[in-house]
Amino acid sequence: MCIFCKIVAGELPSNKEAENEHFLAFHDLYPKAPMHLLIIPKAHIECFQEIDAHTMAGLTEFIQEVARRMGLDKSGYRLITNNGEDGGQEVKHLHFHLLGGGKLKWEHLHDESHKNM
Ligand code: 5GP
Ligand code: ZN
Repeated sequence: MCIFCKIVAGELPSNKEAENEHFLAFHDLYPKAPMHLLIIPKAHIECFQEIDAHTMAGLTEFIQEVARRMGLDKSGYRLITNNGEDGGQEVKHLHFHLLGGGKLKWEHLHDESHKNM
């Protein structure tokens, strides 16, 4: 079982912010912004490339609701999903990073190695 499946199952602790039958939002253990949530489907879907459009529609509504609940909908936020090896995905269970709570710099995404590409 992957670590996010263990969080869903309650076998690993997490700081949960919101959940419903299908989706869960919890705080990233190593926040990269004043507010950094991870939003996942409870079912194990490996990456964005694997999610079907119907499930994604539900996840979209859930993410928007979480952003409203956190007071980020008006101030703005950044939504990121890393997909696969080149995308830098470390946990192989689809997750969206919801980042906000302050003016974010694009440099947060800066990748030194792109200069060599
Ligand atoms: P990725 O690099 O796969 O897009 O992002 C994985 C994210 O999961 C990272 O931001 C990392 O800080 C976070 N993370 C890794 N392990 C745990 C954990 O056990 N609990 C929580 N809450 N976050 C984790
Ligand atoms: Zn999983």
